[in-house]
Amino acid sequence: MDYEKIFKEIYVDLAKIEDTGQVSNYIPELSKVDPNSFGVQLTTIHGEKYAYGDSNVRFSIQSIAKVFSYVLAYSRIKSDLWHRVGVEPSGTAFNSLVQLENDLGIPRNPFINAGAIVICDILVSELDSPKEDMLTFVRELSGVDSINFNKRVAESERMNGFRNFALVNFMKSFGNILNDIDEVMDLYFHICSIEMSCEELSKSFLFLANNGVVPYSNNRILSPSRTKRANALMQTCGFYDEAGQFTFKVGLPGKSGIGGGIVAVHPEKYCITVWSPRLNPKGNSYKGMLFLEEFTTHTKLSIF
Ligand code: GLN
Repeated sequence: MDYEKIFKEIYVDLAKIEDTGQVSNYIPELSKVDPNSFGVQLTTIHGEKYAYGDSNVRFSIQSIAKVFSYVLAYSRIKSDLWHRVGVEPSGTAFNSLVQLENDLGIPRNPFINAGAIVICDILVSELDSPKEDMLTFVRELSGVDSINFNKRVAESERMNGFRNFALVNFMKSFGNILNDIDEVMDLYFHICSIEMSCEELSKSFLFLANNGVVPYSNNRILSPSRTKRANALMQTCGFYDEAGQFTFKVGLPGKSGIGGGIVAVHPEKYCITVWSPRLNPKGNSYKGMLFLEEFTTHTKLSIF
């Protein structure tokens, strides 16, 4: 299939629709991005690559990184993760506090902020140098050594992270955060600040399309059964209170971030990443969602 031609056609089609989304202003650093940036990259498990637009420009991957931290924890931890964090869609915003009280400080899943913060607490307990180990892991998955945190973004997150601090304090009051709060949040904010391009992201997520094995290095990251579970969690929880919409319209497991990126995986086939910074009210890329909907509709390449 001529994916690059299809990308161009969809891009031209979508240019006719007004982008009603807003670039995230959650922290000042994120609002500096060019709102009209647009990139897409598809990589197959056999190594074919198809790109369009700003596919090589790095952006703030934000909550997409929650998949990396979850997989790192899930692949290293011998004990059971699931008494600390659930596997149910939250049906609430990514930074919501409301369910936590009823759920006694156990977040619904690892992809909302509260769940990702618990995962960071686990990584702080398990790893000698959590930040460095996290970077090493992402560099291994992508095969790109220059991937890094953006220190200004991480600092800006810390200065403005009142809600995230509320979440971590609340969970600590229930005994679901074991380490020092500042140490846990330092890891969380740094993870959110990682910068990658569509090309690098779609390569890094390929192991989830390939039964847990990085196709170009043959390195096993997760067992097939754990890979199935990671994809299931992305399918049901990757888009917060829009997970149903994404499944309904796109039909692939995926994960979004407020930097405007979306990564989606077709098990046994490919990984696609799209970046368009303007977000819809749920904090997911407005045109990114539309683009992927058109893509799986034209190509019939959804899992459903
Ligand atoms: N850094 C953001 C936060 O902690 C990430 C949110 C997102 O990408 N959905 O709220």
